[in-house]
Amino acid sequence: MSSLDGISLGRMDSRYRVFNFIRSAGVVSRSEIAKNLGLSRASISSIVSKLIEMGLVSEVGLGHPHWGRPPTLLSLNPEIGYSLGFEIDISRTNGILADLGGNIAAYKSMPFDVKDGPDAGLKLIQGMADFLLSHGGVPRDRLVGVAVGMASPISQPEGVPMTPPIMPGWGGYPFRSRLQETLEMPVCLDNDANLGALGEFTYGKRRGVTDLVYLKVSNGIGAGFILSGRLYRGAWGVAGEIGHVNIDEDGPPCSCGSNGCLEAMAGGMAIAERALQAVRAGHPTILKEMSGDGGITVDDVIGCAAKGDETCRQILARAGSQIGIALGDLVNLLNPRMVILGGHVAMKAGALLRKPMMESLQDRAMKSSLEGLEVIYSSLKEKAVCLGGVALVFQERLRPYFKGTFI
Ligand SMILES: [Zn+2]
Repeated sequence: MSSLDGISLGRMDSRYRVFNFIRSAGVVSRSEIAKNLGLSRASISSIVSKLIEMGLVSEVGLGHPHWGRPPTLLSLNPEIGYSLGFEIDISRTNGILADLGGNIAAYKSMPFDVKDGPDAGLKLIQGMADFLLSHGGVPRDRLVGVAVGMASPISQPEGVPMTPPIMPGWGGYPFRSRLQETLEMPVCLDNDANLGALGEFTYGKRRGVTDLVYLKVSNGIGAGFILSGRLYRGAWGVAGEIGHVNIDEDGPPCSCGSNGCLEAMAGGMAIAERALQAVRAGHPTILKEMSGDGGITVDDVIGCAAKGDETCRQILARAGSQIGIALGDLVNLLNPRMVILGGHVAMKAGALLRKPMMESLQDRAMKSSLEGLEVIYSSLKEKAVCLGGVALVFQERLRPYFKGTFI
């Protein structure tokens, strides 16, 4: 058997499984861990002793006995600290302060236009970090690190956005290192859908599914992959750009320079553009009265469709169907166990988008790829990306403890 630092890999796997089980359970006894993981009481005792010695787990009191002595209860050591996770979306920025168990101490969401550029983004994150720490009552020295997700491929490990099509002016900007200098603390930068996948994998209702796709449908469209229990970023961080899969070779131009990409046809901005064209062409719709003078947004389209407006329903149905085409290719390629739908547009449109998406997915994907595949909504909703950031910070912090088995 191979070994790292004199410890067998098999042993380390069990240690990580026990650690993760305690993280999921919150408070738990040794016998409950043994029962759930199918390990012997002796193994659990020895692994838990090691986790306590490492400072990752602590004993937090006594439980109620079924018989005999009351069991000692275990929990993650709160002294490990807190992490900040941010999501810079096209028109909003969200931030979360949470502990290793994903327990949220503070949350804030603010309007922010990415067109204002990365310098304004840095200032905003700095201000939000101060707010979250003071609002959550967490002293700065309890903070382990900060992670930021954005709608861009990110070159790793430098943490530099790579010419993001829908974030003009951000490409090549050393966001990670600048934020690290500003906050004087370790910073990770990653793609937003990657963090959504990691958030669901670590803290979601269906946490622990080792092969999952997080599909973010917002103004842009992107995917994050957990494959064999690890976040998959590709060779240099560009994996998951499903928004730039070609749907129609004669389709409209895309911000990436190509045309007929999924994002240019079914992303939030494309949906709003299509609705504007429908109004101009004189299609029957209540959109004009609903949207006022501020132009048409994807939220207007979803709102009108929910009220039964047939033109808006058709626009959303077409977008859903196109997303299903790309998703069909994706499940054929990767064979995930689960697809988790997230992002503002997918969550808000609900069945208006999901139903046609599922129909075209069923038509396009091979039966063998669909067998056992679950398509669910994000349980972490608008907090998925931020919580993925929290997970990423702790992952980096804990990496030395679980070398060889960690994501
Ligand atoms: Zn494109």
